[in-house]
Amino acid sequence: MKKDKVEVTGDVRVRYAPSPTGFLHLGNAQSALFNYLFAKHYNGTWVLRIEDTDLKRNVPHGEESQMENLHWLGIDWDEGPDKPKVEFAPYHQKDRVNLYHKYVQQLLDDGFAYLDYATEEELKELHDQQIEAKIAPHYDGRWYGATEEQIKQAEAEGRKPTVRLHLPEDHIYGWDDMIKGRVEFNSDNIGGDFIIEKSNGMATYNFAVVIDDYLMKMTHVLRGDDHIANTPKQIAVYEALGIPQPLFGHITLIYSLDTHKKLSKRDKNTLQFISQYRKYGYLNEALMNFIAFLGWSPVGEKELFTREELIEAYDINRMSASPAYFDQKKLDWTNAEYIKKTSVDELTKRIMLLVDAAETDVAEQLKAIGIENELDFIKKVVTIYHTEAKTLMTFMEKVLFIKNANQVAFTYADLAEFDSADIKQILTAMSAELKDAAEPVDYPAILSAVQKETGQKGRKLYMPLNVVFTDSKSAPQITDILSVMPKATVQHLIDNALEHLNK
Ligand code: GLU
Repeated sequence: MKKDKVEVTGDVRVRYAPSPTGFLHLGNAQSALFNYLFAKHYNGTWVLRIEDTDLKRNVPHGEESQMENLHWLGIDWDEGPDKPKVEFAPYHQKDRVNLYHKYVQQLLDDGFAYLDYATEEELKELHDQQIEAKIAPHYDGRWYGATEEQIKQAEAEGRKPTVRLHLPEDHIYGWDDMIKGRVEFNSDNIGGDFIIEKSNGMATYNFAVVIDDYLMKMTHVLRGDDHIANTPKQIAVYEALGIPQPLFGHITLIYSLDTHKKLSKRDKNTLQFISQYRKYGYLNEALMNFIAFLGWSPVGEKELFTREELIEAYDINRMSASPAYFDQKKLDWTNAEYIKKTSVDELTKRIMLLVDAAETDVAEQLKAIGIENELDFIKKVVTIYHTEAKTLMTFMEKVLFIKNANQVAFTYADLAEFDSADIKQILTAMSAELKDAAEPVDYPAILSAVQKETGQKGRKLYMPLNVVFTDSKSAPQITDILSVMPKATVQHLIDNALEHLNK
């Protein structure tokens, strides 16, 4: 749909409003990041509000996970539970119940809302009948306009009422979505009068969110497009209360390239949680850069953006209305580029944080061997693999591999394609050279001696050696790798390979 250019003016206030029913996942991070970029680009305020009214669904540490991982990604809110502003606090919905109740009462008093005494069984029966009759399930307004007599009777039966908002008939709830363009719903097609307060006195999401956005003076609401169907209900509340509405923008969800459907927990090939990207060695800068492109694109071809550059380049008019596809290759490329741009010292520092947290097997093993006492060794390994590492995990695996090289069982899978007699000759010569070499061993000198002695050079010399010392044909400069191995390990690997070839 064609849409008008959005002009953002005045004091901007936007929010990220997670429900702590799970940990920070890609979709959450996408929504948080776009709100952050929107606030920062348009000189506004970014608010964190915790929508925790569904007490049963809140998970332990869900809120901490949201906050911790947003911080790790490198984005911080201006206001939130830990940074309250008196005018707008509290920032947890469960602490705002009385506020909601006050507005529910106002709607009851004004006749825009009413008590509904239908029991769950009655509602289920209604639902089943509608399904049977092939009509869209909706509440039929049976308690709208109930007499005092009926209400007394229901109370006497011990029924507990919910409060429903009464919808006008054939009324258009529409908005100019900042991302999707014009969206309209007819009041007849949104499920009928809906519950704004449950029988336990707790406001529903569609009601609480309106009261909060209004009282917290939100100017723009940017959220996932799975909320589009909620928006007409929220507009109905704004209209009934006669309060001003924010501008809405619905961000495209993230889709899987494999299934072409929305990314879901069932897509096992894709890591879903930000904490997983952290523990598997993705850099926060790279992940932020990658997520920013899930639903937005800048002008031009540039692909790598720092946080400041993203803030500068962000433009709500360049948000995409069509699905954003999660491309693992693109993420890995982005991460590798950021690794290249990051200094060896900084990478080593981050590796040590992962080792210390010991959240993966590799990190745990490195911690167990006390690798924190060998920072110089780690830095050398990081230097060797700096331009080819995909994640910090690559470095950690190499560190562990080199440390354990004298105990690892090699497959020698790549050795078969080379002439076995040639390799034996190379290894025997190398072994002899090594015997008398002083430590630290000058490996380039040793290999040129081997080359002279055997007449083997280039690919024929280096490729088999890569396999002998790393169990893989492709390795960075083999002399660099040898220089970080103890001489005894190098000798051991030569002996092992000879034994394998003599089998
Ligand atoms: N608590 C809602 C969610 O986690 C956010 C709704 C909104 O942004 O309006 O999906």
